[in-house]
Amino acid sequence: MTANTSHSTRKRFGQHWLQSEKALAQIVNAAALQPSDRVLEIGPGTGILTRRLLPLAQSVVSVEIDRDLCKLLVKQFGQAENFLLLQGDILSLNLAELLPPAFQNPNKVVANIPYNITGPILELLLGTIAQPNPQPYDSIVLLMQKEVAERITAKPGSKAFGALSVRVQYLADCEWIADVPAKAFQPPPKVDSAVVRLTPRSIDIPANEPRKLETLVKLGFATKRKMLRNNLKSLVDRDRLTELLESMQLNSQVRAEDVSVANWITLSNSLGDTSGDINVDTTET
Ligand code: SAH
Repeated sequence: MTANTSHSTRKRFGQHWLQSEKALAQIVNAAALQPSDRVLEIGPGTGILTRRLLPLAQSVVSVEIDRDLCKLLVKQFGQAENFLLLQGDILSLNLAELLPPAFQNPNKVVANIPYNITGPILELLLGTIAQPNPQPYDSIVLLMQKEVAERITAKPGSKAFGALSVRVQYLADCEWIADVPAKAFQPPPKVDSAVVRLTPRSIDIPANEPRKLETLVKLGFATKRKMLRNNLKSLVDRDRLTELLESMQLNSQVRAEDVSVANWITLSNSLGDTSGDINVDTTET
């Protein structure tokens, strides 16, 4: 029996083993690994992707939560000098404290992530609008649920363009790399998947008050079908908003999904001139 089949999958860890050579090649190619790259992999599973990363990078740190899988991974790759396996939850480990010098500061992320924690993983890797990751990765290649990939790469004016699109696109260039059908996995997940590449960058004209932008985006998209001016009425006077929208060549009846990231920033920065502090609770529910 191979490692791929001897370990039964654990649903709570979002375990689905990628089997497709094509998809593996698409992930690895999208990472464009150089011999000097230090890679972070999240959820190596049975190591099918790890095996392809190790010969191409200076080092690979893989973080796997499942103890039994870790034993298999150590058996497979324990000899590789450029491999380090950490057993634990990617969301709670402190990598900077745990990594020995040779593995410090990974510059690329390549991973087939557990879909149930996609949002928290994105936030861990990119940070937030108000607190971007101070040490941004050069690139982040992720295999994720297709529906989330669509939202992350959506253009304004499309249905998928939402608060997540603005938050992620504020912090990174987002590229659709490839579709990966459910049948590329064993067991197949209920949803289709896609490979996405995120390239963190600093925005040309950042928000003056990032917290204000976060609040604006949250409220603006709160009720998706409504016009922006209705969603923001607790925040901005209707006439003032119409004036601002017009100065951006936007219709006063525009919806949040039609406003580009650049215009969200302009809107946030313009509001800074007139309104006082926005006292809205922005904690996620
Ligand atoms: N990369 C593998 C497996 C992907 S499935 C492949 O391509 O085949 C997702 C993997 O993430 C599983 O191995 C699961 O055990 C692991 N995982 C789930 N939650 C995790 C967490 N919080 N931290 C680290 N690994 C996690």
